[in-house]
Amino acid sequence: MAPKHVIVCGAGGFIGSHLVRRLKDDGHWVRGADLKHPEFSTSAADDFQIADLGRQDECDRVFDRPVDAVFQLAADMGGAGYIFSGDNDARVMHNSASINLNVLEAAKRSGTQEIFYASSACVYPEHNQLDPDNPVTSEDSVYPAAPDSEYGWEKLFSERLYLAFNRNEGMKNRIARYHNIFGPEGTWRGGREKAPAALCRKIAEAPDGGTIEIWGDGKQTRSFLYVDECIEGTLRLMGSDFEGPVNIGSEEMVSINQLAELIMEVAGKKLTIKHIPGPLGVRGRNSDNRLIRDKLGWEPDAKLVRGLEVTYRWINDQIRGRP
Ligand code: NAD
Repeated sequence: MAPKHVIVCGAGGFIGSHLVRRLKDDGHWVRGADLKHPEFSTSAADDFQIADLGRQDECDRVFDRPVDAVFQLAADMGGAGYIFSGDNDARVMHNSASINLNVLEAAKRSGTQEIFYASSACVYPEHNQLDPDNPVTSEDSVYPAAPDSEYGWEKLFSERLYLAFNRNEGMKNRIARYHNIFGPEGTWRGGREKAPAALCRKIAEAPDGGTIEIWGDGKQTRSFLYVDECIEGTLRLMGSDFEGPVNIGSEEMVSINQLAELIMEVAGKKLTIKHIPGPLGVRGRNSDNRLIRDKLGWEPDAKLVRGLEVTYRWINDQIRGRP
């Protein structure tokens, strides 16, 4: 994109803080907004506003002028432990829906027309993801809808909201469904971390020859996308005429046991895996990249192990207190 004025909502989060850095590298003026500053680095944004986007007045303050593009990544989210316990459902739905309703209203009032919305693979029906070897995640398989979490239902509602603003308000919003993004500066402890970060932590903390615990039988499958490729896909979608929704994910599907083995290789450790009960999510999930190949002429292609090397090193340094 030519140099632009951009707002990143959720700029204090994992993907948001990487996105701000990339937008700055590309020469844009960036305003970040979030409840908090990034946890692991200083934001590269030109202007960073602490704001609760779940409140309309605070959203209006952030959107005090028209900008060329908005990246809306703010959401109340977490790993499986946060999303699937059921304890946080009301909070997750109310907070995230309020953010999206308010951001759209504030953007419209300010004369801003283009918003990227980060949806999730969690919108796909559970019944299409029971076979770990053949999960279905083609974009049109989302209906009839049956996500397996309230987090997924909120994402689906908000996808429809952004598309309704395209139809009725002349906006040019675009939607991607991210599939398990990982990388340095992602949450790696505390209960909201995802599988790659949680396993990197467990493996880094275990003594060689020791044991690590994995939720379930470890045969559930997933694909994981390195954060730089997620951002590349996001920017390509914003530079295109395609509104989506489109998957942004990797097609390199692995079981959680295989993921653990890969990280052990990266770490140079041999550990025993102990399977314990825990929240799991769907049985299998992979990204179906046919639509993104067709519409953008691009898809992520980095090997999973490359991203794991960088992420493991970063988490290992965090544990050992190395900056
Ligand atoms: P994250 O939790 O690190 O970032 C989300 C940010 O939103 C946080 O910094 C949080 O403080 C902020 N936020 C929450 N409520 C807010 C509020 N009321 N006002 C202002 N800011 C608020 O998550 P992430 O991994 O960077 O994900 C970014 C987006 O991508 C989210 O919308 C998420 O649902 C979506 N997504 C992520 C993944 C993934 O694997 N990381 C997968 C699918 C979809």
